[in-house]
Amino acid sequence: MRNSLGALLAIGLAGLQFMAVLAVVFSSYVTSERALLDHARDLLSDVGTNTIEHSRGFLSPARGAAELSARLAQDRVIASDVPELLEQLLFQQLQLAPQFAGVYHGSEDGGFVYVMRADASAPGPFRTKIIRVRGDSRNTELIWRDNEFNVIERRFDPEDTYDPRTRPWYKRARDQLTTIWTDPYIFFSSQQPGITLASPVMDGTDTVRGIVGVDIEISAISDFLARLRIGSTGRALIIHQNGDVIAHPNKELLKTKDADGTLRFVDITQFEDPIARAAFSGLKANGVVPTPTETLSQFSYGGETYVSVIMPPISEHLPWTIAAYALESDFTEVIKQNRLQNIWIAAIVAAVTGLLGLALANYIYKPVRAFAVRSALIAQGEIDPSEPSPKTYEELDNANRTLMQQIARRRETEMEFGQTFALSSRGMAQIDAGSGRFLRVNHKFCEITGYSEEELERMTFADLADPSDPPFLLPAADTGATPQEINHEMRCLRHDGTAIWTMVNAILSFNQEGRPLHFVLTMDDISHAKRAEEQITELSKDLSNLSRDNTMGQMAAGLAHELNQPLTAIAQNADSALFAIDQMAVADPELRHTLEEIADQSMRAGEIIKALRGFIRRDEGMKTAFDLPELVQQTRRLVMAEARVAGIAVLCETGPLPPVNANRIQIAQVLVNLMRNAIEAVAESGQAGGQAGGQVRVTASVEDGCVRVAVTDTGPGVDPEITLFSEFETTKVNGMGLGLSICKSIVEANGGRLWHEPAPEAGATFLFTVALATA
Ligand code: ADP
Repeated sequence: MRNSLGALLAIGLAGLQFMAVLAVVFSSYVTSERALLDHARDLLSDVGTNTIEHSRGFLSPARGAAELSARLAQDRVIASDVPELLEQLLFQQLQLAPQFAGVYHGSEDGGFVYVMRADASAPGPFRTKIIRVRGDSRNTELIWRDNEFNVIERRFDPEDTYDPRTRPWYKRARDQLTTIWTDPYIFFSSQQPGITLASPVMDGTDTVRGIVGVDIEISAISDFLARLRIGSTGRALIIHQNGDVIAHPNKELLKTKDADGTLRFVDITQFEDPIARAAFSGLKANGVVPTPTETLSQFSYGGETYVSVIMPPISEHLPWTIAAYALESDFTEVIKQNRLQNIWIAAIVAAVTGLLGLALANYIYKPVRAFAVRSALIAQGEIDPSEPSPKTYEELDNANRTLMQQIARRRETEMEFGQTFALSSRGMAQIDAGSGRFLRVNHKFCEITGYSEEELERMTFADLADPSDPPFLLPAADTGATPQEINHEMRCLRHDGTAIWTMVNAILSFNQEGRPLHFVLTMDDISHAKRAEEQITELSKDLSNLSRDNTMGQMAAGLAHELNQPLTAIAQNADSALFAIDQMAVADPELRHTLEEIADQSMRAGEIIKALRGFIRRDEGMKTAFDLPELVQQTRRLVMAEARVAGIAVLCETGPLPPVNANRIQIAQVLVNLMRNAIEAVAESGQAGGQAGGQVRVTASVEDGCVRVAVTDTGPGVDPEITLFSEFETTKVNGMGLGLSICKSIVEANGGRLWHEPAPEAGATFLFTVALATA
């Protein structure tokens, strides 16, 4: 299948740009997804780090406050045994940090000062609890104050039995003699999650006087977590190393009540946030809370994929792990939307560039198509190639010009060939190489064969051949790439049924692939030439018979002539001898008989010779009217071989003449003899070389009611020693000396005469006359 250049261009351009857009979209899709997943993890990691920072920032003032209070008490700046002063100090500390729920001091004697934030239902925003111990007696006073430390209400609580020394924070700080952090727990008073920080107040170096404690509510960390935005559903939470969830965006989930009514944290394995549970409950089981390093992972929940991060502990005092999770699709959703958008953009770009590509392809292809159409129209002869071509690209323009030139040249050649073909004086035909059918014939061909052009176009070449001849077929046309030439004399059967001799010359032409195309054939009618040749052959045959007869006749005549006298002499002598015997008295009868025999026999010999002469002279031949110049031409043909060998030109300058009446073959004999003598004479004289050298000329003219023929040569002329026209007179080694005498007898027998005249310059002229047919 052949592809159209235009379609190829359009498809190529559109296809290529579509593939390019696809490649860009695909690669951006892959890279952006990976980048966004990395980004999701980075984000989670940042959430963890932020939470750690926030928690540290949230908790570190508490440590400062507790240690400051402890030191102040220790350095006796504030007497720890004066509760009112201590309360004031603790109040200030409490006001400094909003995350503090309460600040307090417990003494070795069981005394206790506790300043705390009161809940909304209380009479004032702050509440102080002071336990005074004197000996065995103790009292507990509760004071509510406003922000300016003014008392709003004051009362005693005789029921109170609280003893700070029994509390875990007290014990641990006292035992370890350093600031301690408790595990998170739910504060009894506020019912909020928190931790306690306790720092010992030393007396001297190793005696503990009391412990300063700070309660820090950590629900603010949960508030912080609630404010964090991690995708649509992502959350961060804090898990204590014992598995308790101590901070979560939803604070309500943190607490649970035991059977005995105490509030405690919920373990991660029971935690109400199912996604967090799915993500992190395994951590506790594996004992990897807190993890030593930041760990990022992926997990599935409810058919969705999540990413999660677990941070290392916040600090050595706070073995808390910050864990965060987020829906992976929160990040990839953006990509999906982006991808869809990209695909749309790609499709639109592909469509637009495809259309542009088509337009461009069309723009490029239009002139090519116009060019192709033009070529087709020129091929069909609809347009003249010399018409100006449409303006196109330079390349096409050049191609067009070259094409036009070629077409014009081919047309010229075709026209020339066509004219040569049509006007040729020879019969011409174009014949299909395969079928032998006539493709084209010229007028002359029709004339030779007698068929019309239409009739021939329905025939094959073989139909023209005479069926009685061995079949002459054009050879199988697959014999090679070189045009093959065939020359053949063929008997052609004309339309009217007559057979004529033709000379056929055929050339087989091949196309560029070497496949035979057709024969170009020329045909000439050679019937006339053929007939002339036959006539000459016949003439030559007749002449040789005649020549033999004539020579024998002339020899016999000559012999008779020569023998006549001696025979007559013998007869007369015999007669004289007989007469003499008769005169003698004594006659020998034997001698007489012998002499009589001699006389008889010599008479008889004379009679035989006379009869022989009569026999030879008897045939005067049939006389006919014929064209003498034609006969001259034919006889010339017979002597041409000798003349050519001797390099002598034989010229016939007879011109048209009226027909003569004579024995045609005998006159031919005379012409041949005279021409041969002339050629031999010229050859003997050593002249040769055509025009410049020796020549023999035959001329003829009408004179006194007959035609006078002259054969002139440039030879040495007749030898004066010899008597012309007499038998056995010759100067030639092999000559018989009969030729001229025979010619003379023949010419005379036909009513003419033969004579010799010396040529004007050199050489000889022999002349004879023949009677005109009309005379
Ligand atoms: P043959 O040719 O056998 O000799 P011909 O009778 O034809 O007998 O010729 C007799 C002689 O006449 C020749 O031997 C030649 O010497 C002479 N003769 C004839 N024709 C010519 C001529 N054209 N030129 C010179 N001599 C001629």
